[in-house]
Amino acid sequence: MPLLQVKRVSFRYGDQWTLRDISIDVAAGDIVGLIGPNGSGKTTLLKIIDGILNPASGEIMIEGMKASAMKRHDLARVIAVVPQDFPMIFPFSVEEIVLMGRSPHLGRLSFESKSDINIAHEAMKLTNTLHLAQRKFNALSGGERQRVLIARALAQEPRIILLDEFSAHLDMRHHIALFDLIKTLNKSRNLTAVIATHDINTISQYAGKIVMLHEGIIHAIGAPDAVITRENISTVYETNVLIDKHPKTGTPRLTLSSNLM
Ligand code: ADP
Repeated sequence: MPLLQVKRVSFRYGDQWTLRDISIDVAAGDIVGLIGPNGSGKTTLLKIIDGILNPASGEIMIEGMKASAMKRHDLARVIAVVPQDFPMIFPFSVEEIVLMGRSPHLGRLSFESKSDINIAHEAMKLTNTLHLAQRKFNALSGGERQRVLIARALAQEPRIILLDEFSAHLDMRHHIALFDLIKTLNKSRNLTAVIATHDINTISQYAGKIVMLHEGIIHAIGAPDAVITRENISTVYETNVLIDKHPKTGTPRLTLSSNLM
C-alpha cells in the first residue's frame, strides 16, 4: 500500500478548476519531483496533501486512511511542509521557529523537553543554521530563511516532507547541500519527499518519479527519462530546449537557448 495516495483530486478556488482528477501514488522512500509552469497547480496540490486546502472531490490517503479523517496533530507527525514563504509578524528567533516543528510531538500545554531541544539543534546542524539560532527569523536573507524552514520541518520528524520551491533563494553550495541532505535522510531514515521545483536538471538527479503538471492536469508522470523530453517541455512550458544527458549521472539535462540566436 502506498504511504501517500492522491486519489482523483480536483480543486477550484473560484469558477475555474485549478486541479482536475489528479492521482499520484507515493511509496515510502520515494522522492517525487513536481514540475510545471507558474500557475499549473503545484503549490495548491501540496496544500491539499498537507490538509491546508480541502479538495472539491477525491481524497488524500495516508497508508490507506483518509487524511481528512485524521486529526491535524496526527497528520503533522506524518507530513511536514517547507512552504515557499512564511510571513511572520512576531519577531521569533530562529531557534523558536525550529522548535515550533516539535509541537505535534508535545502534549497539550506541555513545553519542550531537553530531547526536543536536541532534536531541533540537530536539525539546525544538518541545515547549517545553528549559528543563526538567536537571530530574528525576519532579519535573515531569503536563503537563510529557507534553510531555517527546512530545519523546522526536519525537527517535526515527519515521514513525508513536502518542499515547495525550497531552493529558489539558495546559493549553489546550499542548493546542492540541501538536495543531498534530503537524499541522505531518504536513505538513512526512509524519508519520503515530494519536491515542487523549477529546477528540472537538479530534480532529475534525485527523483525516481517526476509528475509534470500542465493547467491543473497531469501531463506526464514517470521516471525522469520518460517525462523530461523535448516534446513534453515544448508543450507544457512553450519553450524550445535542448535535452541531453548529464555527463556524470546520465539523467536528463536541459539547456535553454535564446530564441534570438
Ligand atoms: P504553481 O504552484 O504551479 O505556480 P499554484 O497552485 O500557486 O500554481 O496556482 C494555480 C492556480 O491557482 C493559478 O492560476 C493561481 O492564480 C490560482 N490560485 C492560487 N492561489 C489562489 C488563491 N488563494 N485564490 C485564487 N486563486 C488562486
